[in-house]
Formats: sequence, structure tokens, C-alpha cells
Amino acid sequence: MSHPASAPDDPYDVERVRRDFPILHQQVNGHPLVYLDNGATSQKPRCVIDAISDYYLRDNSNVHRGVHTLAARATEAFESARTRAQEFLRAQDSKEIVFVRGTSEAINLVARGYAVPQLKAGDEVLITEMEHHSNIVPWQMICQETGALLRVLPIDEQGELSLDQLDDLMHAKTRVLALTHVSNALGTVNPLAQIIRKARDKGIVTIVDGAQAAPHMRIDVQKLGCDFYAFSGHKVYGPTGIGVLYGRMPLLREMQPYQGGGEMIRKVSFDETTYADPPYKFEAGTPNIAGAVGLAAALDYVDELGLERIARHELTLLKYATAAVEKVAGIRIIGRAREKAGILTFIIDGVHAHDVGTIMDHQGIAIRAGHHCAMPVMKKFGVAATTRASFGLYNTHQEVDALVSGLHEVREIMGT
Ligand code: PMP
Repeated sequence: MSHPASAPDDPYDVERVRRDFPILHQQVNGHPLVYLDNGATSQKPRCVIDAISDYYLRDNSNVHRGVHTLAARATEAFESARTRAQEFLRAQDSKEIVFVRGTSEAINLVARGYAVPQLKAGDEVLITEMEHHSNIVPWQMICQETGALLRVLPIDEQGELSLDQLDDLMHAKTRVLALTHVSNALGTVNPLAQIIRKARDKGIVTIVDGAQAAPHMRIDVQKLGCDFYAFSGHKVYGPTGIGVLYGRMPLLREMQPYQGGGEMIRKVSFDETTYADPPYKFEAGTPNIAGAVGLAAALDYVDELGLERIARHELTLLKYATAAVEKVAGIRIIGRAREKAGILTFIIDGVHAHDVGTIMDHQGIAIRAGHHCAMPVMKKFGVAATTRASFGLYNTHQEVDALVSGLHEVREIMGT
């Protein structure tokens, strides 16, 4: 059972929230840790760590086939985690939830299992210029195999999708639209419902990369109307190695497994194998049971704290940080979309992003420097790398102040 720091109607008490995260209370290089790398992975509240540890201390067994008590407990824990993920995404049926390792695996599964059997030479797969490599490379791989063509919806100077080009890019040959809900490199929140409605009207299957959305906003896959939605546990305060693929049941029925093994079959002989129903036919082998248990605890945690309140808190931080960072001389913010999640990306004139990251680390500040697995975004803005501060539910205004004074220090040390 999780114990979030405050009930939904309380004002947001970030100091109480922070007490739930043991890792935050340490010194790094002689300074209090300021963790602003939540876009890469978030820290875990004690209730998630305890849920995993309790599972191993009390209930550990393999799932589904056992008749003994521990097997029943492990199965119950695993399947109730599936129901928890269903509720979190507002899906219709828990059988529409496939457990995977993370967003990357989910997208690969859809590309291989759903798209490959449907695609013919000359068909088109549409992605966007702001995608993470995880939502580019799997589509490139299957386009090479099938002779389908990869098309890209561009972004503009603000870091928003060029929606005026969408109609031209979605036509009779377009079979799949794969796009991100929130850009990890720019923070842009895309107007998904509107885009998906257009795609559905044209019979195009949609898959949403929700890796950066799940920690920051309420998701309702039925309202969005998408066919598939993917997210990773570790970015939403859960453990690594577990993630979710939501798929609408008629499509999951059509989709082929790309891994065979135990758990995913109904009947096996040397002549023929029949597969289990979804989601099991996509879950070959022993699943990450403890990961699913930890994920369920994380979803409980954010839901009880209130995703709307979390979003409000993070947007206040983003606004405060944007105003302060843009006052630092020589800094250019990359990504000025009208709607953004808690991600602030920038470059400092004459200083490489890695140097910014290293100097910040000397002050105990963890930020990310590099291409953020979104090289096409870097190319679009004419940079090799950027620095990214990404906010989570436990970050504070004082931490933003530390970030800003860190940036002044960088400019002083680098003499810019
Ligand atoms: N998509 C986006 C937008 C991401 O930010 C990430 C993680 N950085 C991924 C996909 C891949 O997620 P994972 O590494 O958990 O599979």
C-alpha cells in the first residue's frame, strides 16, 4: 500500500513528497543532490522499493501455471498490476495491456507484429521529426524489409509539429502513424486527439509513444482514440525493465507474436502451435513479475498524489525555470512550443553541452547533455547536442535556483 505525501485536495507539499524518495537526500560532490534528469529516468518512492522487496520477501514464485499458494499469490500480484495499468490508461479491458520491457520494446513489437504483416512495397509509415530514436529505428528497419516508405512530418522553429502538412502526408498509401505524445528533446506536448481523429478517418493505424507523457499528465486512451499506446515504468517512478503496451483488442487479435516460448501458447506439437489469446501471446517466457508489482505501486503513488496536481506543480517549475534561464546571457532555449511538459532544453554559446553537464555535476546537479536520442531534432536546430533539465514531482523552486546559479558558474569557468 502506498502512502502519498498529500491527499488530492491539499496544497502541493513538495517537502513531504521529497521525504518519500530516500535517494534524494544525499550529497554529491559535496553539495546536496539536485536531480533534474527525470526525462532519462525518475527516482523511486519508498513504497515502490518496498513493494518489490515485499514481493521477493513473501510472494516470489512463477506465474500462471502453479497450483501452490505462492504461485497463486504471484499470479494475483502480476494480474492485478495489469488491471492497475488498465485503469491508469483508462483502457477498456485489462487484456489490452501487454507487459513489455519498456517503450522501445513496445514499439518494436507493434512494428514487427502488427505492421510487418500489413505492409506492402510502396505503402507508407508516417512518423514525425521530433521522435526519439526508439520511434524511428524500428520503423526504418521494417520499411527496409517490406519496401514501405518512411515519411516524416516536419517540426517548425518553435518545436511544434507542422500540422498544415499533415493532410498531404496522410493519404491512401499511409498505413501507420507513429508519434510521440511529449517530445523528450523539446518538451512539446502534441495535440494528439486532433491528429488521431484525422488518422482514424483515413483508416490509418496509430501508435503513440507515451514515454514522456505518462509521468506528467492524465492519459485516456479511449478518449485519445489511438490504436496503440506505449510507456516505460522507470520514467513514471517505477522500476526499470517493465513497461506497457496498450493495444485495442481487435488489433491485438490480428497482431502476430515475434517471440515464441512458454506462457504464450495454447497448444504445442511438432507439427503446429496455437497461440494463447492476447495479451499472453505476446509475453513469451517468465515475465518481470517484481517489475510489474513495482510499477503498480508507482501508478498508485502518482494517482493518489494526483496527476493533475503533479502537472500543475511541474508547469510552475517549468515557467519559473524558463524565465530565469533565459535571463542568463548567451543561453538559447530550444523548444518554445505553446504547450510543454516539464522539460527545458538549451544551449550556451561557446560551451559544449557535455562541459555544462560536467561542471553542473561538480555542484551536485544532475542534468542531461547530448543528443537525447533525437538526432534529427538536433539537426533541425543546427546543434550537435543540448543541455536538458527535466522536472519531476519532487523538484523544487530552490533546485531551479541552483540550476541557474550553476549556469552562471559554467559561464564564469568557461570564460564566455
Ligand atoms: N520515447 C521517448 C520519447 C523517450 O524519452 C524514451 C526514453 N528516453 C523512449 C522512447 C525509450 O524508452 P525506453 O528506453 O524506456 O524503452
